[in-house]
Parts: sequence; structure tokens; C-alpha cells
Amino acid sequence: MTISEIFNKMEWGTAPENDKNAKAWLKENKNKFGHFINGNFVDAKNHFKTKNPANNQFLANIAVGSKADVNLAVKSASNAQKKWAKTGGHARSRYLYAIARLIQKHSRLFAVLETIDNGKPIRESRDIDIPLAIRHFYYHAGAAQLMEDNLPNHEAVGICGQIIPWNFPLLMLSWKIAPAIAMGNTVILKPAEYTSLTALLFAQICIEAGIPKGVINIVTGDGTTGSLIVNHKSINKIAFTGSTEVGRKIRFETSGTGKSLTLELGGKSPYLVFDDADIDSAIEGLVDSIWFNQGQVCCAGSRLLVHETIANQFYKKLKLRMKRLRVGDPLDKSIDMGAIVDPKQLSLISKLVNKNAHEGNLYQPNIEMPNKGCYYPPTLITEMEPSASLMQEEIFGPVLVSTTFRTPKEAIALANNSRYGLAASIWTENINLALDIAPKIECGVVWINSVNQFDAAAGFGGRRESGFGREGGAEGLLTYVKPKTKTAELKKQKKYKKSITKSNSLGSLDKTLKLYIGGKQVRPDSGYSKAIFGPKGFITHIGEGNRKDIRNAVEAAHKAGSWGKTSGHLKAQILYYLAENLDKRSLEFIDSIILSTGAKKEIARKEVETSISRLFYYAAWADKFDGAVHDVPIRGVTLAMNEPLGVVGVICPEENPLLGLISLAAPLIAMGNTCVLIPSVSSPNIAANFYQVLETSDVPAGVLNIITGEEEAFVKTLSEHHDIAAIWYFGAGNNSGEIERFSTASLKRTWVNNNKTRNWHSNGQGKEFLNNATDVKNIWIPYGE
Ligand code: NDP
Repeated sequence: MTISEIFNKMEWGTAPENDKNAKAWLKENKNKFGHFINGNFVDAKNHFKTKNPANNQFLANIAVGSKADVNLAVKSASNAQKKWAKTGGHARSRYLYAIARLIQKHSRLFAVLETIDNGKPIRESRDIDIPLAIRHFYYHAGAAQLMEDNLPNHEAVGICGQIIPWNFPLLMLSWKIAPAIAMGNTVILKPAEYTSLTALLFAQICIEAGIPKGVINIVTGDGTTGSLIVNHKSINKIAFTGSTEVGRKIRFETSGTGKSLTLELGGKSPYLVFDDADIDSAIEGLVDSIWFNQGQVCCAGSRLLVHETIANQFYKKLKLRMKRLRVGDPLDKSIDMGAIVDPKQLSLISKLVNKNAHEGNLYQPNIEMPNKGCYYPPTLITEMEPSASLMQEEIFGPVLVSTTFRTPKEAIALANNSRYGLAASIWTENINLALDIAPKIECGVVWINSVNQFDAAAGFGGRRESGFGREGGAEGLLTYVKPKTKTAELKKQKKYKKSITKSNSLGSLDKTLKLYIGGKQVRPDSGYSKAIFGPKGFITHIGEGNRKDIRNAVEAAHKAGSWGKTSGHLKAQILYYLAENLDKRSLEFIDSIILSTGAKKEIARKEVETSISRLFYYAAWADKFDGAVHDVPIRGVTLAMNEPLGVVGVICPEENPLLGLISLAAPLIAMGNTCVLIPSVSSPNIAANFYQVLETSDVPAGVLNIITGEEEAFVKTLSEHHDIAAIWYFGAGNNSGEIERFSTASLKRTWVNNNKTRNWHSNGQGKEFLNNATDVKNIWIPYGE
């Protein structure tokens, strides 16, 4: 071949990585592994084979975790937890640091092992997966050290069950284990069936690092083993990354158990290219987005949305680039795409594409493909209808689907036309446009003129059916701690006389209190009202709301959505004004509280005073709980924005009818949410008095909607409602489990009391409320030419 021919073809040679050391390590271990429990490897009865998807070669026999294995691991984690938490942040920090150093020392072995087990290009495992995993342990070594400074009065959740997928095996392990053990938890982690090897090498690193026995346990196995972990009674928290389908199952199984839960699930993330974008960069970005890890990435930019005016030119260039992609041996350092993780996944991708490709125009470049192993070509399907199944379903392979948009408004509507909400990538040279659009996309991460940027200092996670909770950053730590508080079983309030007699009737005036929806007092749809009694007898009638009233209230709350964009300053002014107006009517509220609860005057006065102070407290926070700029290792900034959740359903405590309501409504409103609120079931009249205060306080119509009635009538409707983003429950009934269970379909965020008491005076305000009232969105903004 002549030099000019070489220049014309620009062909790459091969640059194979040697897998000798990885194979030797497997051999050292006799190609067979047990579980890592209580600091030792424990053999198991049954094993399954793990293979290299690039060539179908056998790698090792991996233990199948049985019930007895899971029990043993939980016992060991349980024995170790208190001591580990007590050992203190500095000691834990040293252990995390030791792990980071040791992974660093063996980084190449980890990278090669990951590649032969998973099929991902060595370039990616060597330069992305392993360095990020190391970074995670370093970052969380610091988090452990600083725990007392940053999270005073917080403690570990306890024993954590962690279940991870196969697409980033060691990286997902580090995302789970590092924050958990940094905060003093102990863990039982189950790697995915296809990719257990780096977790087992990691277990050996734990021995070398001298991690105390039982702090980290690794039980391998399939979904059945995962399910045993999820359903183990002694586990306090489940952290799961994987498919939305399994995530939903886990939501259902953990509901009512009191286990805390974080879910990082699927996605169909939009990749928006505007007409002023740097097209070459945007195309290169796509290579790193949808063809990175063969598209087996939950946040892959799998939905390409292109400005109509540049679409033809863009697709032309993109196809040209696709023709240059190299698919081949993952150990070859010069390939772009490696192997799909398993023949099963390959067949899933092929079937989905074959069945639905007719929905658009399919393009697969005529490139050289390996004739053996699990490979799928880079694929582009254009001219898709937004509702087409391939535009909506997660394919989890190297398949990009696309449509066009005409205006930024249309781009946002298309981007949000998904049941998922994980990530988005925005390409434009107009930073004003990018920063205008980023907050309008319903997701947890936005990359501006970039893709797939990750760092331990920035949180990652989604909304909607992409799950809830964050991993990484300060927000990720919050999912592994709980406030140190004493609680007890919550008892129902005393019930007062249930009939109206001449002697307890308080007069003949029409005292029926209505519902408050969209800024107006409305009669309940049911046409029913209910008598409310206090210790001295009948107080008033209240309207009995039903499903229709909830629907109307949700609609009104959505119409008031612009509240979320109102400045913190204005929200603060309105909350101060609300406090002022409540203050003016404080005597009336004191009397009402006495009348309905029988409280002593001093107690009632204290409740009103604390309520006023609480409104001031959240007015103060309204313009101060404002996110962060993270120090991530890119030339640029990462903005962590605290965003409102949207419409939130709130079931208030029965006790402290005024203070309970304000303690929940105020942080939500201060953070820009709108609410559908069910007040204390035994003293709803206080809330009815409160909406008269609302009417005089400039709170826009629909921001706070109040529906009175029986709690049981609302639990299911609120939890199942698909237009409600989250639900808070501090009610009197034992409905926490029902709320979680009914929320399974919509996967909404829940915050429930698990039938435990809360002292609303001493423990009814703080960042816990603000964190629960917001979702963090991380927006990555690189700069420089
Ligand atoms: P799964 O969600 O099934 O697996 C994720 C993890 O959960 C694995 O460790 C798995 O075990 C385990 N698991 C499976 N069933 C249960 C259960 N009932 N209870 C507890 N744990 C369970 O993903 P798959 O690997 O099967 O992939 C299927 C699809 O999921 C993909 O095609 C893709 O669309 C999506 N996916 C999404 C990911 C994401 O990050 N968003 C990651 C991986 C997959 P096992 O080892 O047996 O699989």
C-alpha cells in the first residue's frame, strides 16, 4: 500500500490489549468464585458460567446466592454495622482511601477484566469506568471525613442491599458502596449475573485494604438472589440500578416495610441539536453518547431531536461518521464499539428493531462486522413520529432514533414527551438558549454541548419512570443517612362524640366549610358533608371531597405551575405576608385549636406562634436554598439546581392541625411546588379557617388546594394519580405502605411516616423538608473555545 493510499483510506491498525494477567488471575482463582461474606470467600452449592461476549469463551463459574447465603451476608453486615458507624469519619475515610489506592494500583487488571466480562471497549473501561470508580472512592473518603461537619445530627441508615446492572459493573459498584460505607452503613451488594468478575476482584481488594469483616459483603447470583436481598427483613435500605420493570417490582415489594429506597432506572434521553450548533462537535458527541458502551447506557442520548433547518445536512454528516465507526474486538484499543453484553440482550435489540424499524427510515452503515460474538451495528432510524414505539421504548443498544423540531418550544415539548426523565444533551452555540432550555427539561442531568459527563462530586439520577434519589455529590449522601431522632408508634387522636344533639349543637347558622380549589371555595362534588366534633361537641360541617375533587385540585395545581418559576424573593414576600395575616387572626386560630382538640390555651397559643415562625423560616429559605456550583474535573462548571418537584399530594398529620399543615405546605410552596393538601382528618376545620387567610395573602390561585374528608378516600387516588409528582404522608392511619404500593405504577417519590410520631414543634422544620421538596438537577456547562 502506498503512502497516499494510506492517507486516503485513513485505516487504523489493530492495537490489541493483552489479557494475559486477567486470565492468570482467573486461573489463580481456579476459574471459580464463592461469595464474599464477613471478610472471607464462602463457597456455594450452585454456580453459573460467565462468558466473554466477544468470543463466547468461558471465563469462570460464579456462585448462585441462595437464601442461606443472603441470610449469612445480612447477619455479617448487621454484626458489623454499629461498630463501623462508631469508628468515626476519619477512620472510615482511611479505609476508603486505601480502597481507592489499591484499585488504582491494579487499574489495568480491573480494566481488562471488565472488558472481557462485559464486552465494552478497553478504551472505555481503561479511561472511563475504572478512573471514575477510583474517583468515587477518593471523593467519598473525603465525605466520610467531613460527615460530622456536613451532616450534623445524622446517622447511617443501617444495612443496605445494593443491586447493580451489568453495563458499568465496577463503576456502579463504586457508586453504591462508596457513599454507603462512608456514611457508616454496611452493605450486601449483588452484581449483575453477566458481570460479577470485577466485583470479586474488588472483594480481594477489600481484604488487602483491611476493611473490617462484614462491612462489605458481595453475594453473586441472578434476579432471584436480588429478590432475596430486596425482601430480607433486616435490611434497612435498598439501592437499585437497572430496568424500570424490575425497579417497579422492587418499589412494590419494599412498600410498607419501612425500607428506604432509591431507584436509578431506564431512560430515553433527548439529544437536542439546534441550527446554530457546532455540527461536527454534535456528531462526535453522538458517538460518545449512543455508541458509547454499545448504547447500553441508561442516560444514552438515544432520541435525537434536530432543528428542521439543518436536519438533512446533519443526517448526511452523521451517516458519513457512522461509516467510519469500527466495531470489533473490545480488547483492541482502536475500536469504537465492542460487543453487546450477552446473546440475550443482542436478540432483544434485534427483535425490537426488526419489529419496529418500519416506523421510520433505517440506516445501518456497510461496515465490517466481526463474524463471531455478540455484535450489533450502529443504527440510525430517522423520520420517526414522536409517539412511535422506538421513540418511546428504551432499546438499550446502539440504536439512535430521530425526529425534527421547528422551534425551541417544540424541542422542549418533544424532549419531555417521554415517560422517562433521566438526562438530556443540548447542542447550541447560544448559551442563553441552552440555559433557558436546561431547566425546562424534566430530567436529573443536562449536558450542554457535551455528553456523558460524570463525576463523584455531581449527583446523578432521574425523575418520573427513571426513578428517584441521587447518586454522587452531596445529594447522593443524603440517601445513606437519616436524622437522629427518637420516634414512637403513632396513635390516633381521641375521637369525640359522634352525634349532634340539642345540647352540643353550637347554633343554627350554616357552618358547612367548603373545599378550596384553584383559589376558590367550592362545594364538594359528592354533595356530602361531615360533622366535626371537638371535646365540647359539634363544631361544624366540612365538605367531603372525593376523586373528582382531587382531579380538579390536581388540574388547578398544574395550572399554577408558573409558581415554580417565580423568584425566591417573591415567594418569600408571599410567605411573610401569609405569616402576617395568620398573626392578625391568631386569636381566632387559638380558639379553633382549643375547640377541636381540647388543648390548653397555652398549648394552642404555642401552636399558632410556632406556625407563624415556621412561615417566616421558609420565607427565609425561599431565596436561599439555591443549589451549588460543583468542582468537577472539567474545564467548565456544573450547576446543581434545586428544582421543585411539581404537584405534590400532602396528607397532613392528625395532631397539631395548624402546625402540621404549615410545616408541610410551607417548604413545598417555598421551593416552588404546588400542592393538593388533605388537612388533619379530625380537625379539618382549622384548614378551612386557613384558606380564608390564604385568600387575603396573595398566594396565587391553585398553589395550595385543600380538600377535606376521610383520609381513606384520598390515599389511593393521590398515590395513583399520574400527574402528581410526589406524595408526602404524615397521616393518622397506617397508610404509609398503601401510599408506597399505590405509587408503584407512576413511580412517584414518596415521603411517609411509617406510622411513627414526629414532634412538630421541635422537629418539624429544616433541610430535611427542603430536600424532600426538591430534586437536584445537575447542568454541565463546559467552556472555552
Ligand atoms: P435488570 O433490571 O433485570 O437487572 C438489574 C439488576 O437487578 C441485576 O443485578 C439483576 O440480576 C437484578 N434483578 C433482576 N430481577 C430482580 C428482582 N426481581 N429483584 C431484585 N433484583 C433483580 O436488567 P437486565 O440486566 O435484565 O436488563 C434488562 C433491561 O433493563 C435492558 O434491556 C435495559 O433496557 C434495562 N437496563 C437498564 C439499566 C439502567 O441503568 N437503566 C441497566 C441495565 C439494564 P441479574 O444479574 O440476574 O440480571
